[in-house]
Parts: sequence; C-alpha cells; structure tokens
Amino acid sequence: MTNETTSSVTVLGLGLMGRALAGAFLKAGHTTTVWNRTAAKADDLVAQGARPAPTVTEAVRAGSVTLLCLTDYPAVYELLAEADLAGATLINLTSGSSAQARAAAEWAAQRGARYLDGAIMAVPPAIGTPEAVVLHSGPQADFEAHEPVLAALGTVSYLGADHGLAPLYDMAGLAMMWSVLNAWLQGTAMLRTAGVDAATFAPFARQIAAGVADWLPGYAEQVDRGAFPAEVSALETDARAMAHLVAESEALGVDAELPRLIQAMAQRSIAAGHGGEQYPVLIAEFEKPR
Ligand code: NAP
Repeated sequence: MTNETTSSVTVLGLGLMGRALAGAFLKAGHTTTVWNRTAAKADDLVAQGARPAPTVTEAVRAGSVTLLCLTDYPAVYELLAEADLAGATLINLTSGSSAQARAAAEWAAQRGARYLDGAIMAVPPAIGTPEAVVLHSGPQADFEAHEPVLAALGTVSYLGADHGLAPLYDMAGLAMMWSVLNAWLQGTAMLRTAGVDAATFAPFARQIAAGVADWLPGYAEQVDRGAFPAEVSALETDARAMAHLVAESEALGVDAELPRLIQAMAQRSIAAGHGGEQYPVLIAEFEKPR
C-alpha cells in the first residue's frame, strides 16, 4: 500500500469527538472525507479542507480507511444499513462492550468489510497530542496498514486480534480511574472534617497512588502465578486497618459505603481461608459474581 492510499481517510460521525478526529487528520495533511447525519456539523471542517461526501457509501469509498465515531453501536448499524461496504476497512471508535465489538466484526465480515475495533481514552481537545491514547484490536495487518494515518490522532496502540480487547481495556481503564478518584474523594471527605482542604491533601494522595502503582508488576506476577505468599503484609493485617477505616468514617460522619465494600471483600476472602496470604489473593473475589 502506498503512502498516497494510506493517507486518505474518512470520518463518519462528526459529534464532539468525530470533529476532533477529522480535525487531527486534516492538521496532519491527510485527505479527509467527512459525513454526518446533521450535515451542518461538517461546515467548519470543510472550511479547513475536508471533503464532504453526499452519501455514506461515497464517503466510505473515498478513504482507504473509514473511522466511525457515533453515540453507540445501534447508531453504527443504522448508519451503515444501506451502505455498500465491500472492500472497505472500518475502524469503529464508538464506545461499547467487548461483545458488541465482536458482533460488529462478524457483521462487517458478512458485508465484505475489514474491521478493527477501537477505544478512545481522551477528551476531544487532547486528540492530535501524545496524551490522547487510542486503542485498537482486530487483525494486526489491518492495524499496521493504517497505523501511519492513525498516528495523527495521538498515541495509538494495538492490543491483539480479539476485537473485544479495545473495549475491555477501555472498561478496565475506567475501573482504575473511578476507583482511584473515589478513594481520593473518600480521603478528602475525611480530612475536610479536620479543616484540611482538598488541595493540601492532593500531593499526599498523589504520592500514595504512585506508590501503589509501583506495586502492580509484583502483584500481577502473584495473580498470574496463582500464588500469594505474604511477603510484606498478610490480608488479615490489612483487614484490621480496614476496620479502622470503617470506624473512622462512621465516627466522622462521612459516607462509609466504600470502606465497608473494601472490608467486606477482604472478610469473604479471609472466611475462605486466605487471611495469611497477600492482598492480590482478592482476585478470586473479583472474578466471581455475587
Ligand atoms: P456526540 O457529540 O453526541 O456525537 C454523536 C455522533 O453520533 C453525532 O455525529 C451524531 O450525529 C451521531 N449519531 C448518533 N446516532 C446516530 C444515528 N442513528 N445515525 C447517524 N448518526 C448518529 O458524541 P461524542 O462525544 O462525539 O462521542 C462519540 C463517541 O466517542 C461515543 O461512543 C463516546 O463514548 C466516544 N468518546 C467520547 C469522548 C468525549 O470526551 N466526547 C471520549 C472518549 C470516547 P448528529 O450530529 O446528526 O446527531
């Protein structure tokens, strides 16, 4: 594939994110074709040099690769229902579940299209900068064929052949993000009862979060091995501190739901005989639904 063919790209869906994607391709000098249900949203991009396509099929034909960025997967199916996709390569950056991604890959194959799924871990203003992380999964050759164009979006990465991986990493990242933020807010609520403001606590909280992040490679090794020797602390020791956290939250009159959840998971693991093992043994609690 020549540079000329890899540098023509189509963006379907020009909401807040789609406009940022198309803008980044234009800025990088790629021939960019756009289509949106509400046509007026293309106006600014067209003024910057984007080519408006009259139909979805013509939009898909214009680019060597077509990116989709819509509200959800049902919108993707609705938009592509009548389009001729034979020979097209679709990269669906619409947020969804791993099951939706795998089903969309099968659907695209039945329509004669190549398909990569993706997930954007950034806000629109970050698109086009290294801070924007864009994940992809599906056939590696298809990712590599279009990686030079995709690089205009930010830090692009390939996760594997399973189309569900990009949404799974997306969800795992959100689980991390909200868990860390909730933990910080819990600590902030507790300290504010003593007149310590959020800005004063933030550097300490950051230090704790960074310290915990450093434990992950070693803890991951325990999870993958399925062996959890208490090298630095046993779960039952942690559980005593958890009881303090619950009691302190209740005494301060702040919400204790998160501390109680943390404690309850540890108690279940201890009841199952794992009190003498190290914290990552809790993976068993996370792996089974209650
Ligand atoms: P948005 O501004 O609400 O745009 C939604 C887009 O979907 C519009 O182009 C809309 O067309 C189109 N659309 C919806 N239903 C459609 C249908 N049935 N047929 C044709 N087009 C349809 O949303 P956004 O912020 O751009 O988000 C788009 C995707 O990016 C979502 O999956 C979102 O989760 C993901 N994302 C967004 C962000 C963010 O910060 N914004 C960050 C990461 C990921 P109209 O203009 O005609 O309504």
